[in-house]
Amino acid sequence: MKIICVGRNYEQHIKELSNSRPTAPVLFLKPDTALVKGGEAFYYPDFSQHIDYECEIVVKISKIGKSIPVSCAKNHYEEVALGLDLTCRDLQEKEKEKSLPWTLSKAFDYSAPISEFFSLKELGKDIQDLNFSLLKNGNIVQKANTSQMIFSVDEIISYISQFISLKVGDLIFTGTPAGVGPIKIGDKLVGVLEGKEILKCEIK
Ligand code: MG
Repeated sequence: MKIICVGRNYEQHIKELSNSRPTAPVLFLKPDTALVKGGEAFYYPDFSQHIDYECEIVVKISKIGKSIPVSCAKNHYEEVALGLDLTCRDLQEKEKEKSLPWTLSKAFDYSAPISEFFSLKELGKDIQDLNFSLLKNGNIVQKANTSQMIFSVDEIISYISQFISLKVGDLIFTGTPAGVGPIKIGDKLVGVLEGKEILKCEIK
C-alpha cells in the first residue's frame, strides 16, 4: 500500500504560501508508517518546532490500474475519507531553499492521521462536490468544496497512473485548501465531511 499526496491543488492555498500555480499535479509520497487511524492522538516530535495541519480529501483506490484515461478514472475508486497531511514547515522551508525533496518534512511517522472511509454512493455526492472543513479547538480554520481543486480527482488518478501503477488500497491525499496553520500540544482537530464530524485528532 502506498500513499500518494498532491501539493498545490487549491488556488487560495498556493497564494497563502506564495507558491506558483502548477501546470501538472505536484506529487510526493508518504509511507504506511505515516498513518494514524481510529482517532489516536498525534505526539509532537522533537525534530520540528513548526508543524502545520493540512486537511484533505483522501481517495482510496478500489481497482488496479496503469495509464488510466481520465474518462475511466471513476471506475477506480468508491470511497473517500478526510486526512491530515501534517507538515514540518520548518524542515520543508530548508528543503525548498536547497531544492531538495520533501521526504523528511512530509513523510515522518504519524504525519497522516486519517478518518474512516465513506462510500460516495452513501454520501450521495459527486467527488467534485464535497464540502469539508477543519476545526481547531472548536474554530473553523479550513473550509472548502472539492469543486475548487485545480486538478480533479480523475485527472490526478490519470496523471499518477502514467508513471506509477495504482493498486487496491492505495490512498491519494488530494491537496489542502487555504487556512493551513500550526499545531501545538493540547490542540484538538476535528475534520468535518458533509456536516459529519468524521476525523478527530488530539495533539499530545
Ligand atoms: Mg498537503
